[in-house]
Amino acid sequence: MIIAVDGPAASGKGTIAKALGRHYDLPCLDTGLLYRAVGLSVLDAGGDPDLESDALAGCDFNDSLLDDAALRSEAIGAIASRVSVHQSVRLALVQRQREFATQPGGAILDGRDIGTVIAPDADAKLFVTASVAVRAQRRYAEGLAHGGAPSLEALVADIEARDARDMSRETAPLKMAAGSDLLDTSDLTIAQAVSQAIALVDAQLEGRRPA
Ligand code: C5P
Repeated sequence: MIIAVDGPAASGKGTIAKALGRHYDLPCLDTGLLYRAVGLSVLDAGGDPDLESDALAGCDFNDSLLDDAALRSEAIGAIASRVSVHQSVRLALVQRQREFATQPGGAILDGRDIGTVIAPDADAKLFVTASVAVRAQRRYAEGLAHGGAPSLEALVADIEARDARDMSRETAPLKMAAGSDLLDTSDLTIAQAVSQAIALVDAQLEGRRPA
């Protein structure tokens, strides 16, 4: 069984995907981490994320990089969004994602193009979103909790820029896949969002809409 969870930055898709993984006892792949690893290796090599050849060279990263805490920063998220525009970069990462998706027993993947490109035949698909204001507020609270001094204004601008880039790129733009259910987490607690996600997935698996 494959579950595809897509959505913009800070929508709650990662938290939901992990919770679904626990609920259905399935392994999860945060595909954003792959693009973040490409971005970080480009920076480490002194390359230019906007240059396709530099970005493609970054796809050769060592897997140990996936555990690097530096990948989680907003700055690397923005670089990831720049390297992910290049078609050759996306192609270089496809096989790894499809292998994860089709492993025996099934899997959950979260990202931007799981339901549209990586696993269009997924058994269940969710598109998780939230308003820009709420998403920026979440990143702001995370920044404070980690001892930082984030600027809410800068976070709003970053999220808007990332959404615009992810939705307007030519290859695999962020959009709701056919057969996907929309889950807006703007006014939901994590527990509410997770229980709604489980209800939607159960309904899709049973071939019906929730009551
Ligand atoms: O999900 P996360 O914020 O970690 O993703 C970082 C960036 O990687 C996104 O803004 C997006 O540009 C890119 N990405 C992508 N396709 C995916 C996952 C992430 O293009 N499946």
